[in-house]
Amino acid sequence: MIQDEWGQLSQRLLKSVGQNNFKTWIEPLNLRDIQDGIATFHVPTNFLGNYVSQNFSDAILHELRVIDTSVCRLSFAVPIQSPKHPAMQKEAAPVSKAAPASSPLNTAPLDKRFTFDNFVVGKPNELAHAAAKRVAEGGPVTFNPLFLYGGVGLGKTHLMHAIASELQTTRPDMNVLYLSAEQFMYRFVQALRVRKMMDFKEIFRSVDVLMVDDVQFIAGKDSTQEEFFHTFNALVDQNKQIILSADRAPGEIKDLEDRVKSRLQCGLVVDLHPTDYELRLGILQSKVEMQQVNYPTLQVEDGVLEFLAHRISTNVRVLEGALTRLFAFASLVGREINLELTQDCLADVLRASERKITVEEIQRKVSDHYNIRLSDMIGPKRLRSYARPRQVAMYLCKHLTSRSLPEIGRRFGGRDHTTVMHGVRRIEELKVQDGQIAEDLELLRRSLEA
Ligand code: ADP
Ligand code: MG
Repeated sequence: MIQDEWGQLSQRLLKSVGQNNFKTWIEPLNLRDIQDGIATFHVPTNFLGNYVSQNFSDAILHELRVIDTSVCRLSFAVPIQSPKHPAMQKEAAPVSKAAPASSPLNTAPLDKRFTFDNFVVGKPNELAHAAAKRVAEGGPVTFNPLFLYGGVGLGKTHLMHAIASELQTTRPDMNVLYLSAEQFMYRFVQALRVRKMMDFKEIFRSVDVLMVDDVQFIAGKDSTQEEFFHTFNALVDQNKQIILSADRAPGEIKDLEDRVKSRLQCGLVVDLHPTDYELRLGILQSKVEMQQVNYPTLQVEDGVLEFLAHRISTNVRVLEGALTRLFAFASLVGREINLELTQDCLADVLRASERKITVEEIQRKVSDHYNIRLSDMIGPKRLRSYARPRQVAMYLCKHLTSRSLPEIGRRFGGRDHTTVMHGVRRIEELKVQDGQIAEDLELLRRSLEA
């Protein structure tokens, strides 16, 4: 098959054109046939075809002559029946399965797993989810831009892809362009270099929905920022939807011009909060079902997911990775997924995500919680209203840090380790008898682990 040969040959171009060029310009090429010395490629956009023809013809011809020495010319065609490009239909061959998605613009590839169905909703992300859902309906633009922000691995890209996929199926008439800010910059710089700014502007200004992931990336990149700002304004003026994501709020992105910041803030800004225990558990349950498609015989013993949700509180990506490893490991060694196996298999992950809660943090949180002064908690007063919070703090230090009893005692105003032991025991008893104490402990533990 000529496609397969091309697949191998094209790899050789990687060296001569560089990794970035290769990804952007060469990978999307789909060799259809070679006839009468003309090699015909399907390309996702005219823009791409023109660009490749101007910049990489010689390199491509050189490689193609390995397959067919008679090749002397390249031709590019967009294999779509998009009403927006009726003229292209005549010259394009029938669409093959391998042809790129029919969007006339080069949307970055979407991860098929990142759908709304696969997105688990909980308190920390319900607002972001609701806003994303609304925008994905493709109805009248009500907030522009939608700005999603939050820490690493909390589902920003997942939601962005979900919006793009949903729009692609329900609103095929719409031009949806999804790309990372890095790709935006890359294309911008390319366009500058080859003096194709008009094409660049045209592409970005002809979309109905523009989605740019990780916009914090353009901070400090002045000319990219400038162009982004103009693109942004042009689209907003035309009432086109813009969806952006970043790892922090617009106002907190350093080296971003004030006018850009304020533009970004004028739509709907929603944040994805760090996951809580319930959300993590929900995500794990949903991901277990996905794993079981590949490993139908593997069961997960009770308590394992709870353990993971409790112990891995960093980001969802880590949680997912842990589960994948667990299933692969269990299937390899032919064992059940129980706590013991989990601890064996994930020892490094568990160690890395060990919560480094400090005694000071606990003391601060507990004194805040009971509304007493830190100095009173640590000081010598024996009043019940100080002694009980002190014992709660000691209990938490014992359970949430790796400090020894004497060490804890020292940090509580130089108390003896037996005093600490007594305090810890007292709270252990009260935890069972006194609902209020149990609740306080749970609340404090969660807030310390968040
Ligand atoms: P971000 O872009 O915020 O860094 P991602 O969207 O890439 O994070 O999410 C990291 C991983 O975690 C992805 O595999 C994603 O599917 C998964 N994930 C994050 N949040 C959720 C969620 N609420 N439900 C299901 N999967 C999630
Ligand atoms: Mg992301």
